Amino acid sequence: MLVNKGQFTDWLNQLIQVYQVYAPVKEDDYFCFKKINSGDQATLNYTNSKVPPKEVLFPRSEKLFCYRCENDGVQLTEQIDESKKIIVGLRPCDAKSFLLLDGVFNSDKYHDPYYLIRRNNTVLVGLGCNQPAATCFCTSLGGGPFATEGLDLLLVDIGDRYVVEVLTDRGRELLSGMELPAANQEAQEAARIVKEGAALSTQVNLEGLKSKLDVIFYDPIWDLIHEKCLGCAACTYTCPTCHCFDIVDEAEGNEGCRIRNWDACMFPLFTLHGSGHNPRPTGKERFRQRVMHKFKYFVDNFNAIACVGCGRCIINCPVNLDIREVLAEIQGSEVRSDKQ
Ligand code: SF4
Ligand code: SF4
Repeated sequence: MLVNKGQFTDWLNQLIQVYQVYAPVKEDDYFCFKKINSGDQATLNYTNSKVPPKEVLFPRSEKLFCYRCENDGVQLTEQIDESKKIIVGLRPCDAKSFLLLDGVFNSDKYHDPYYLIRRNNTVLVGLGCNQPAATCFCTSLGGGPFATEGLDLLLVDIGDRYVVEVLTDRGRELLSGMELPAANQEAQEAARIVKEGAALSTQVNLEGLKSKLDVIFYDPIWDLIHEKCLGCAACTYTCPTCHCFDIVDEAEGNEGCRIRNWDACMFPLFTLHGSGHNPRPTGKERFRQRVMHKFKYFVDNFNAIACVGCGRCIINCPVNLDIREVLAEIQGSEVRSDKQ
């Protein structure tokens, strides 16, 4: 199907009447996904958002429930968000990250209604990447600038119009009433040229990485590889697949709310026990955990790598610690020991 950009803005305005619509919005010198009140607030000529759209489904901070203690017991009020949502203009790598998060929040052991109800009520309208950033390496992780995995619709920008690829019934339903023409031969050819031109500059060699990580927990490589790291957690905080959180009660008198906030394994307090013992006492253990979790433990648990190659951890790291270089260093190292 084919939609011109003016019509697209009108379409967003129609959708806003029924759905909460989230789209990339420019803030200062970066982009992030915000709820829009008008179609022209969406800015689709962006490279990648600073914070991934995962925060639409898994907010940085959210009330789980509120409580009030009475003489005859406790009254609970759950805060489940059942509103219908659309995320417009998300990149294929971010769509793939939702598939990874689904495994975490809907596993055999855990079923997280806060995430899952939002997830089931959200339609994903992706935007292909005509010009991937120098930090992107999605193709090394099985994705691609125009990958469709996890999306309901994919937009391909061909200048003054979008070619719309319909991928699911939910996507088709969203377009009902639009009476869009089918993409003609000229538009299809333009989309083909755009896709062919979107080559990525970086590839990361992941072959054999997992079996190497299986045996280098105690390897001296970790002593060196983390040294630059400041422990600021910008990498984990802006990663679309990171999903750790902390839960706190904010109470006053006999009432309060239970709140969950994003947390990150790069923070020293993340694993601090009540006894004062910290099993990951230095940056070395915390950096190793970040790499191991994404490229070994997640593979052990979910048979998938917990990285989609979005490059945010590279862009946002204040000391230019590049995950691609870290992986190359591990790949190039000799396995010396798997014993403490
Ligand atoms: S580890 Fe880095 S490149 Fe991979 S998904 Fe997370 S932020 Fe993106
Ligand atoms: S963003 Fe860089 S400095 Fe900050 S915790 Fe991550 S790797 Fe370390």
